[in-house]
Amino acid sequence: MPQLSSFFQKNQFCILVEYLTSLNEIFAVKTAFAGYPAVMTLADRVHSDHDMAPLEASKRYPNSVEKVLHFAGKGRDIQDFELFLQQAKAANINNLLLLTGDKLKEHHDGKDGAERSRYLESVNAVMAAKQFGGFCIGVAFNPFKYVEAERDAQYLKLHKKIKAGADFIITQLGYDIDALKQVKAFLKRHHYAQKILACVMPLSLARANFMVKNKVAGIVITPHMLKVLADEKQAGLSERVYLRCALQILMCKQLGFAGVDLSACHKPEEQMLLESYIEQYRHLGLDALESLWMSLWKIKTGKEFIPELSSFSRQPSSSQMIKYYQLHLMHDALFDSKIAKGVGRFIFKAPFWERKAAAKTLLKTEFISKHSIVGCESCGHCRLGDTLYICPETCPKGLANGPCGGTSLDRCEFGDRECIHSVKARLAKAVEQTQVLKEKLIPTVPIEVRGTSSWKNWYLATEV
Ligand code: SF4
Repeated sequence: MPQLSSFFQKNQFCILVEYLTSLNEIFAVKTAFAGYPAVMTLADRVHSDHDMAPLEASKRYPNSVEKVLHFAGKGRDIQDFELFLQQAKAANINNLLLLTGDKLKEHHDGKDGAERSRYLESVNAVMAAKQFGGFCIGVAFNPFKYVEAERDAQYLKLHKKIKAGADFIITQLGYDIDALKQVKAFLKRHHYAQKILACVMPLSLARANFMVKNKVAGIVITPHMLKVLADEKQAGLSERVYLRCALQILMCKQLGFAGVDLSACHKPEEQMLLESYIEQYRHLGLDALESLWMSLWKIKTGKEFIPELSSFSRQPSSSQMIKYYQLHLMHDALFDSKIAKGVGRFIFKAPFWERKAAAKTLLKTEFISKHSIVGCESCGHCRLGDTLYICPETCPKGLANGPCGGTSLDRCEFGDRECIHSVKARLAKAVEQTQVLKEKLIPTVPIEVRGTSSWKNWYLATEV
């Protein structure tokens, strides 16, 4: 059995030491960290869109080194992923962390004639990896969301990731221990057996400033945290960065996490410092660790890790509700009823539709009738019935199964709109359809289907 699965099975707390392939170095790989078993993880395109692929980087290390490879869906499609699975298997890789990924640095929105950048959703990657078989599959989850719809959308998608076949979960990097406790409670409440690990990083002032300045997707650093770090630096107490990281690791262990993903701690001197703090404080119980953590972060009200809340609506507007009900009625009548399916199939089976001109006219008619109402982009496989009539193509990453982790207070990672998945989660609650967002695994759209009529595709694929 692969080592990571065996650590999980034996409830052995483990440390995943994360390396960036952009560093272009060969690292001394640790198999133990402060007495806990350690595993190497290789991140995918964190620094640039052209970083060395994790699979390539993994070949620099012997097969005996246990590794977790990240695969980010940004700029990839399902065929790329299927090829990756074959290559990973051939290279004896057993553990994967499947992510949608943050915004490509060279993202194209498709408006200037260049092809629109595509993002393979983590849910679809998990489904494909599960079907391929033989991998221990990890997914990412961001519990650090502070408005209701955004948080609901994250948790709804976590249900889907688990349903699709995730074996373990790694949280986004974050410092709010209450949010980590909430996700643990969620797993328990739903009787999910998946193991969960927390991403941790020794947070220096420079790193925190970098993340704020570059708006690193999905990471919450509050002004209070920056002030604490700045004061410490000025007082010559910068080593507390490692003490704090050690406390967080020890708290995660006591909270029942299966381990941590240790980020930005690859230099031997940093690792030694962190290990020495873990040794020094590992005898403490959870209460003592938490109280030390709170005093180091100067926590008084508990709100210090929470960003200032924004002003998006807490309820769907009446026009959103009316639109939903109208489209729902129409969808049922035109696409879901037995009669509609029979008539549609009869019409579209006619050889007439094979003609280029007819296909073009049909596509244009579909686009005109749907674009102004839902923002249709002629993807060829209409998913509106599974997305509460909010077109997934209006998400700049084209995600259909739910949000990525990069939103901030309901705002899309791209910064130019409200996240459509927050809108959807809010609407789902109001029209009592959250079950759809929790359970319906929406397949990815094959490239060859894009730019064809979804109407024709629907009727011809459907059983009458
Ligand atoms: S899901 Fe596809 S076919 Fe349906 S509205 Fe969106 S782009 Fe158009």
